[in-house]
Amino acid sequence: MNKSDSERISGILSHFGYEETDKEKEADLLIINTCSIRQLSEDKAYSKLGVWGKRKRNNPNIKIGICGCVAQQDKDKVRKRAPYVDLVFGTHNIYELPNLIKRIENNEKICAIKNTPVICDQNNFKIERKDSVNAWIPIIEGCNNFCTYCVVPFTRGRERSRDMNEIVKEAENIIKEGFKEITLLGQNVDSYGKDLNDKNITLANLLRKLNKLKGDFRIRFVTSYPSDITDDLINAADECEKVCKYFHIPMQSGNSRILKEMNRRYTKEEYYAIVKKIRERFPLVTITSDFIAGFPGETEEEFQDTLSAIDELELDYSNTAAYSPREFTKAGKMTDKFIPENIKYERLERLNEKNKEACIKSNKKFIGKILNVLVENITLKNGKRILNARAGNNKIVHFEDNSKNIGDFTNVKITKAQTWCLYGEPAD
Ligand code: SF4
Repeated sequence: MNKSDSERISGILSHFGYEETDKEKEADLLIINTCSIRQLSEDKAYSKLGVWGKRKRNNPNIKIGICGCVAQQDKDKVRKRAPYVDLVFGTHNIYELPNLIKRIENNEKICAIKNTPVICDQNNFKIERKDSVNAWIPIIEGCNNFCTYCVVPFTRGRERSRDMNEIVKEAENIIKEGFKEITLLGQNVDSYGKDLNDKNITLANLLRKLNKLKGDFRIRFVTSYPSDITDDLINAADECEKVCKYFHIPMQSGNSRILKEMNRRYTKEEYYAIVKKIRERFPLVTITSDFIAGFPGETEEEFQDTLSAIDELELDYSNTAAYSPREFTKAGKMTDKFIPENIKYERLERLNEKNKEACIKSNKKFIGKILNVLVENITLKNGKRILNARAGNNKIVHFEDNSKNIGDFTNVKITKAQTWCLYGEPAD
């Protein structure tokens, strides 16, 4: 979502004659788009602002901006820690940027944080997409779930779905521009439409609509909330040949007591049932997840349930993190239950080891299979042209080929599996 926001910010800035540079030292305007999901990302943002502040002391004409979740969550802290910042704007203010930029160019210092979003047709703004084959389309923003560890409902607000026709129009333009993959984004993507008083507006129906668009492209959607995956969504994924058979479904913990403490609306057994249902429908599907190690009060036994879940569910890959207390959240206040840092990181290490084992096991299942892949980039290695591609199930596949180019779909027979990727040979 942050990457997508950055593409929108770059697009708006281009209207004012700004061009992106990868030489930070040459920039006239520096904007950091922040994430506050963990303390580390927040610390990195302040450290970067510190470097830019020093630069501004030598060149006061430089303008500095900060946006995203850190700005939205704590504008006063930002202004106190970095008073030299010219522009602080929140996650709800991106579409006010045209006006904000004019004002900072006139040497105003601005703090623009709204608690409700500026609603507009996003097709009115140019988007500077960074990837040449995949385009992100946010379809719903915010979250109503209030998991006790998570800051998103405080920084991104409640769920707001975009108009379905507006999304379809954006998708049509993307396909015309030559993109080969559309990723529908939402903090809780399968909640799409619930706030729109029309029972026909659902993620399943949006997939059906997008699937009918003409062109050679495929569709993904992330991130799914386990108990919001409906039978209709599974049916739509099955009916629509352009929809990738890939589900990212964060479980967060393999233990039902911890899930309750996290305010996740499902038990371990219910999560298992959802995975079973998806695997039965799509034999070659990949299912990935997220897990937190060392949630407040988590016992060793409860942590073991997480390790077992990765094995038993044969998860293909998981994002992992040690629990990081976040301001405003319920879990952040459970200080008497915090797990000592050394234990938390030792559990994270074991979780990562388990994840590695699961990945190689998952990758080996594909040896001998033919996967349809999309070429994302090409590298030259010892005079050989190596194509780096992604299968519909999100597996990275490398293969040697002299005829295919970036943006081509092609079939590859998998010949070798490593922990994080597959190798193969052309099978067209
Ligand atoms: S569903 Fe995801 S975004 Fe929403 S509160 Fe829970 S962890 Fe945060």
